[in-house]
Amino acid sequence: MAEHSRDYYEVLGVDKNADDATIKKAYRVLAKKYHPDMNPGDKTAEEKFKEASQAYAVLSDPQKRKQYDQFGPAAFENGGGGAGGFGGFDFNSADFGDIFGDIFGDIFGGGRSRAANNGPMKGANLRTQVRVTFEEAVFGCEKEIELTLKDTCEKCHGTGAKPGTNPVTCPKCGGKGQVVFTQQSLFGTVRNVQTCPDCGGTGKIIKDKCPDCYGTGYIARKKKLQVSIPAGIDNGQMVRLREKGEPGTNGGPRGDLLVEVVVSRHPIFQRQDYNIYSTAPISYAQAALGGDVMIDTIDGKVVYNVKPGTQTDTKVRLKGKGVPTLQRKDVRGDHYVTLVVQVPTGLTASARDLLKQFDELTGDSLHAAEKHADGKEPEKKKKKGFF
Ligand SMILES: [Zn+2]
Ligand SMILES: [Zn+2]
Repeated sequence: MAEHSRDYYEVLGVDKNADDATIKKAYRVLAKKYHPDMNPGDKTAEEKFKEASQAYAVLSDPQKRKQYDQFGPAAFENGGGGAGGFGGFDFNSADFGDIFGDIFGDIFGGGRSRAANNGPMKGANLRTQVRVTFEEAVFGCEKEIELTLKDTCEKCHGTGAKPGTNPVTCPKCGGKGQVVFTQQSLFGTVRNVQTCPDCGGTGKIIKDKCPDCYGTGYIARKKKLQVSIPAGIDNGQMVRLREKGEPGTNGGPRGDLLVEVVVSRHPIFQRQDYNIYSTAPISYAQAALGGDVMIDTIDGKVVYNVKPGTQTDTKVRLKGKGVPTLQRKDVRGDHYVTLVVQVPTGLTASARDLLKQFDELTGDSLHAAEKHADGKEPEKKKKKGFF
């Protein structure tokens, strides 16, 4: 845990004076290469990805970069792992979202802007959410989700043209899907390449549209899909369903469906990484005398032996009663329980008498203990002298 990070510039392979664009470019290359989705189960790649991401998180932020240049990586190490799996920095920041959008587009061939590619292209990825209970996330489950998916239109086989007719090559771009135009500027002639406005980059124009799909080539249908939620998944993590996204083009495979898991709150348990936290009430007598108490865990009730003289807010650990890790189901986190001593209320007359007796009995020993602890007279007695 105390291992020291490599120099962030070194990690990204850029010069100390690199500009923002160079840093972003360098990170994109690394993120693409080491992204966990591209290297399932590869720990080294995951580490490299995290390392690069951390470096980028800092160097892409002018203020953080300045701090880093002054103080080095120590300024950004939040000892002991921080929140989430990525050492505590914000992966939801706008910039990461943007860059990952780009990367996913690149990796999985979302290809919105890649016109003029007439070869097979993978369809775009889709995103959706599924809600699960706390226990379902802990132990894993099967969920059925319903969503609208596009299918290739059977009537026109995806061409979008009315059966018996064919799309024609776009006259504007000659089928290339892109148009080049030149512009005079202060710096000379600038050539610009743009997606063809007439065919939208497909290179084809449909004159007679298919009546079933209105020329889109797709029919949207409601579908039910099974999602296997692995044991140990946490709120906000994704499950990927391969080839359940948008249809590909020119015979390419479908994109993927990324299902974000949203975990409902639990009335008793809280979770942090693979550990579970809860509080359990114990009675005044149990706290003083010790004894067995029942504690709720995700495995059901367990017996815990409270030590005599337990103070309120004492934290105890139930080893292995936490959440199974995603990597290995049989390796589990721990359950931390805060024992809260309940002060009795609504006492009956006899209970009150007993408690008074108890207080009188223990009062002296308590004061004696106080005296013993700091070697002085208990405050109560000392004060008496003043009045
Ligand atoms: Zn059609
Ligand atoms: Zn065109």
